[in-house]
Amino acid sequence: MELIKIDQDSGIPLIGLAYIGILTRNNNTLLQIRPTTVCNMKCPFCSTAANSLKIHPRNFIVDKDYLVAWIKEVINYLEGIDVAHIDSVGDPTTYSDLIPLIKEIKKLKVKTISMVTNGVLLNNIKELKEAGLDKVNISIHTLNKEKGKLLFGKDSYDVDKVIKNIKELLKNKLEVWLTPVYIPNFNEKDIEDLIELSKELKCNIAIQKYEVHKYGRKMKTKEETYYTFYKKINEWENKYNLKLGFKAKDIEVKKTKKLPQKFKLNEKINIEIKAKGWMPNQMIGTARNRAITILDCNKPVNSTVKAKIIQMKNNIYVAK
Ligand code: SF4
Repeated sequence: MELIKIDQDSGIPLIGLAYIGILTRNNNTLLQIRPTTVCNMKCPFCSTAANSLKIHPRNFIVDKDYLVAWIKEVINYLEGIDVAHIDSVGDPTTYSDLIPLIKEIKKLKVKTISMVTNGVLLNNIKELKEAGLDKVNISIHTLNKEKGKLLFGKDSYDVDKVIKNIKELLKNKLEVWLTPVYIPNFNEKDIEDLIELSKELKCNIAIQKYEVHKYGRKMKTKEETYYTFYKKINEWENKYNLKLGFKAKDIEVKKTKKLPQKFKLNEKINIEIKAKGWMPNQMIGTARNRAITILDCNKPVNSTVKAKIIQMKNNIYVAK
């Protein structure tokens, strides 16, 4: 698979794309940091279809110093943030500069540094803690060895190793959240096993709803409604006397300084093409110090195209 490195010389700004760089949803509680699209697994329900070559013929990786420079600029502009969350549309543990990245973020005005991972490549937990990582969300959907291999799409997935890593995280005083995806008719009993495990290990658990995404991989099961999902969650909450589901209203959102809107919706602009995009027939372009995904475009790199801004929510820009 082709791997595109985004660094200073690429000329691609790190705000504007959904899958790489920095995402800010106009509140100062959370900054999402996406250093790579690479993942070591191939889950059959992956919402971003990581490792599906037809959907994503190429991966992206951001140079650490370039990423840090952008993070610094955004945090300074926002006058500090509560959480720097390293999530990526792949798995952050595949990023070779993860520890230096955390160390650099720790020097900034950030209260908490968190990360999400499938937990397989957590071979350096002590170093992660020392670098400044505070919290880890672990995607784990079953305790059954064979089912684990199936749900992560890889024979190499070893749930026992992941559990060992979870124990190690807790031993090193990191806050741990188990974040299983509940797939109806598939892992109901497994979710109960995970609730039991969270009680035994005294760590947190937040159950996620399985959702079908247009460009994601899909399981052979029906997506349930929010009503039936929360009904099931309530059932488990009562049975295990725990809080298990979290809604948007549970998260405190502070209205704060916004990053400036660089364009107007439907505005026609000149965009300089910088690289091929994450999906076929898409290119990455730049204008006014923002990265823009250009749909249905196959123009060569370094050419200029006139396109209309058709989407600009949460500082993510799409043009056509
Ligand atoms: S671990 Fe996450 S990013 Fe990787 S394939 Fe599974 S769902 Fe997708």
